[in-house]
Amino acid sequence: MSQPGIPISGGAPAGLQAQNGAASASGSLYTNGPVQNTLMSSQVSVSQGYNSQLPGSYPHLIPAKTLNPVSGQSNYGGSQTVSPLSNYQGPGQTLYRPLVASNPVTTSLHSGFVPRMPLPTFQNAAATSMPSGSFLPGASVQPPSNWQYNYPSTGSQTDHCPRASSQSMSGNTNLTTHQYVSSGDPSLQNSFIKSGITPNTNNGSVVVHNSYDEIEGGGFSATPQHTNKNPTMNRSVGYSYPSLPPGYQNTAPPSTTAMPPSSLNYPSGPQGFNQTPLGANHLTTSMSGLSLHPEGLRVINLLQERNMLPSTPLQPPVPNLHEDIQKLNCNPELFRCTLTSIPQTQALLNKAKLPLGLLLHPFKDLVQLPVVTSSTIVRCRSCRTYINPFVSFLDQRRWKCNLCYRVNDVPEEFMYNPLTRVYGEPHRRPEVQNATIEFMAPSEYMLRPPQPPVYLFVFDVSHNAVETGYLNTVCQSLLDNLDLLPGNTRTKIGFITFDSTIHFYSLQEGLSQPQMLIVSDIEDVFIPMPENLLVNLNESKELVQDLLKTLPQMFTKTLETHSALGPALQAAFKLMSPTGGRMSVFQTQLPTLGVGALRPREEPNQRSSAKEIHLTPSTDFYKKLALDCSGQQVAVDLFLLSGQYSDLASLGCISRYSAGSVYYYPSYHHQQNPVQVQKLQKELQRYLTRKIGFEAVMRIRCTKGLSIHTFHGNFFVRSTDLLSLPNVNPDAGYAVQMSVEESLTDTQLVSFQSALLYTSSKGERRIRVHTLCLPVVSTLNEVFLGADVQAIAGLLANMAVDRSVTASLSDARDALVNAVIDSLSAYRSSVLSNQQPGLMVPFSLRLFPLFVLALLKQKSFQTGTNARLDERIFAMCQVKNQPLVYLMLTTHPSLYRVDNLSDEGALNINDRTIPQPPILQLSVEKLSRDGAFLMDAGSVLMLWVGKNCGQNFLSRVLGVQNYALIPQTMTDLPELDTPESARIIAFISWLREQRPFFPILYVIRDESPMKANFLQNMVEDRTESALSYYEFLLHIQQQVNK
Ligand SMILES: [Zn+2]
Repeated sequence: MSQPGIPISGGAPAGLQAQNGAASASGSLYTNGPVQNTLMSSQVSVSQGYNSQLPGSYPHLIPAKTLNPVSGQSNYGGSQTVSPLSNYQGPGQTLYRPLVASNPVTTSLHSGFVPRMPLPTFQNAAATSMPSGSFLPGASVQPPSNWQYNYPSTGSQTDHCPRASSQSMSGNTNLTTHQYVSSGDPSLQNSFIKSGITPNTNNGSVVVHNSYDEIEGGGFSATPQHTNKNPTMNRSVGYSYPSLPPGYQNTAPPSTTAMPPSSLNYPSGPQGFNQTPLGANHLTTSMSGLSLHPEGLRVINLLQERNMLPSTPLQPPVPNLHEDIQKLNCNPELFRCTLTSIPQTQALLNKAKLPLGLLLHPFKDLVQLPVVTSSTIVRCRSCRTYINPFVSFLDQRRWKCNLCYRVNDVPEEFMYNPLTRVYGEPHRRPEVQNATIEFMAPSEYMLRPPQPPVYLFVFDVSHNAVETGYLNTVCQSLLDNLDLLPGNTRTKIGFITFDSTIHFYSLQEGLSQPQMLIVSDIEDVFIPMPENLLVNLNESKELVQDLLKTLPQMFTKTLETHSALGPALQAAFKLMSPTGGRMSVFQTQLPTLGVGALRPREEPNQRSSAKEIHLTPSTDFYKKLALDCSGQQVAVDLFLLSGQYSDLASLGCISRYSAGSVYYYPSYHHQQNPVQVQKLQKELQRYLTRKIGFEAVMRIRCTKGLSIHTFHGNFFVRSTDLLSLPNVNPDAGYAVQMSVEESLTDTQLVSFQSALLYTSSKGERRIRVHTLCLPVVSTLNEVFLGADVQAIAGLLANMAVDRSVTASLSDARDALVNAVIDSLSAYRSSVLSNQQPGLMVPFSLRLFPLFVLALLKQKSFQTGTNARLDERIFAMCQVKNQPLVYLMLTTHPSLYRVDNLSDEGALNINDRTIPQPPILQLSVEKLSRDGAFLMDAGSVLMLWVGKNCGQNFLSRVLGVQNYALIPQTMTDLPELDTPESARIIAFISWLREQRPFFPILYVIRDESPMKANFLQNMVEDRTESALSYYEFLLHIQQQVNK
């Protein structure tokens, strides 16, 4: 897609650096644009793409095909064109984006999208006026929309054309009645569905796709049917196909005799539609049948009731939906929204001053996942939404999309339910009974045949690396797990090592031993004998094992201190380019040679200052290379094992933009730091054996009227809203921010759907779909009642990371505080009728101030401490990449008393009894010297033992006779033959099993140096540089009551 000012070709490093001025012609600051060349800015504004239209240049009614950007405007010129990075041409890469519509069929795999996506039918009316918002320090004057970051015009900001004037379609609303499939047959769920239907050949037509965007399908299509030619159609739909008549719903199910589809005759009369028509009346009913407990309606004065932390893990709020809908809804562990009641207008959202966004854990390991193998994947013809439990069936042959409201035909094959072997009940198909489902994708969903799983390991073998001894651990872990690497007989593996030179290893079948090939020209890296360096694991397994056994000893005498990481990465990239795959890089120091060399820039004196710290990368080399990798379906995971500053802000880009992950083991040493060795071992085991998806893309769709504008996580935004994920792993989380572009006044429910298309390690193309349904509300009070405080805190944390990078840490901190002040002020002034003294909060937000205070004390955002720069950057990476549940644990740890564990209320899992002690507030007030307390801070567990702790605990759990005999460093509990020991070990093991990373355990005596870390996490207590919870509440109250 051509876009003015965006070169179609050319190396354009300048493009990478493009600093773009403030976008708005009106002078109002544009606030949700992406920031480039900054470590943490992942957001690419979708809405800005729409804004690239000149005012009035694209009436939304023009159908897609006429949108050839004759005028130089792109109908779809989303982030792709906006992102200065998108026009970067990597070495050996073809164009990211073809000339507009020139020859879409010839575009290569990683080329951009083909301009088949029409103009979105909605315009981001609200976003046009995105002002600086409440994330500004001290902002009390609220522009129309807050929660958007304000990027200073001097900063790195993306290029925006002048914002389009608002062309809201809100006049063209849909008055359709909604019906919802209800009463799922539980037996249908979680079963493996195998269709008896012969695969069809897509009506004989061969579909040639040339980009993922085309495959996965775009967002809203401005098909004339549903928007343009007949704007009233949506209105009429509801009347044309009213709710099924009452008699329709209670008729007996049709015959259960299975018939081949061909012989099927559909009766024209009413069928057994067991679909509860949840129209407006039902919704009203459901409102009164609130899923909220009366407790949820309570207004709380936090100054009086400070102890609002529940003693059991905080549960996400249940959306206020009719139970028939809610029971089909997506599990909040996979998909949740900051507001479980969606405000019907942007104005209402602005009033609430709460952020609207989604938090996703789309590839989470699931115990049971329904898989549909049918050849027919039913999707909306307009917006490509996958059929889901929240569509409505107008009759047996037609369903209405819950995202764009288009009426679609039910395909013939879909009439057959493979599970019940019954015809004529499309609403009972597993696709319509499960909010989470996976499809086996036919060949139309492939750009090329699924590639084999390819694993390339890149090891730092400099003197520093050898000193740490990490190679022993990694090579041993690989040996142990070689047979467990996800894959099949096609799995390929390879190794590169590097110091000041790059070493390749030929593992060709038939060799008696691995051959090492040294390339010393790091200026112009070439690959010697590329065909023998990535080898079939099965065929060359012995050679691979040989290499892994000898590798740790090969460099023990090395004196080479330099590190040519950049050239090594370039070599690895070249090697993997043909297939894509996973690159695992182990680095132990600052790279010093060749491209990508870095300089130390941490200034210890400034660690504690919120200003002038280097959170942004010092070079764009790693980001550029990551984008090259992304284009070739390579993801890079970085394992940084370093006691010294290694500029993670720069290095981390290699993983961030290639959809990889960062692992950090500060001060790793095989002898001096055994607990890190244990951590690396455990985490490698998970890393090497966990599920992996290759060549993945993810798209998130939402009901017409809502718009996603900013993405958080590790990926690259390929076209407007298509996330490119060369690898996807079950431990990665994502977040998006949204706005209400068009009034939702005529809609009672909205839905969100994420679709993740990937190649499994077995070479199958699969699509995992999650659909979430939420109610729309019209009052501020309802918006507040439905707030999900954990999701809000999680989204704010993501936003604050961006803010730290684009502005400053102190800006981000101020913005976090203002988030609380602004929303609670709004609640006080607009919801509460009588102005009581105190700090009044809705029940749903009772933990909001606490969680924000916890964020301020979290490693990412804290001040006044000696947090090393790399540790801070790593914490920020974690905020961006972790699923919400782990982020919350890192932010607000769980504290338990464990010297008196009992079986009361214990869980029983597989004959194991796991005690469930109550969660305590994070304050020293909760500690006592005669007890022992376990703090679960996500990646670390700290067991503090009081000076007067009972003898029972000392001897029967710690195995020591008295307090003085507790070892100074104790990182493991002995397994003693006592019930006390069994209980605490069961509890700790259970906590560890809950997460994909391995939390280290420290036993902390009163005089232990680790005690400071323990106290640092006491969020409610005052520290030298941070307020106590009570002081913080007083501060908030002052501001709110101003
Ligand atoms: Zn649709």
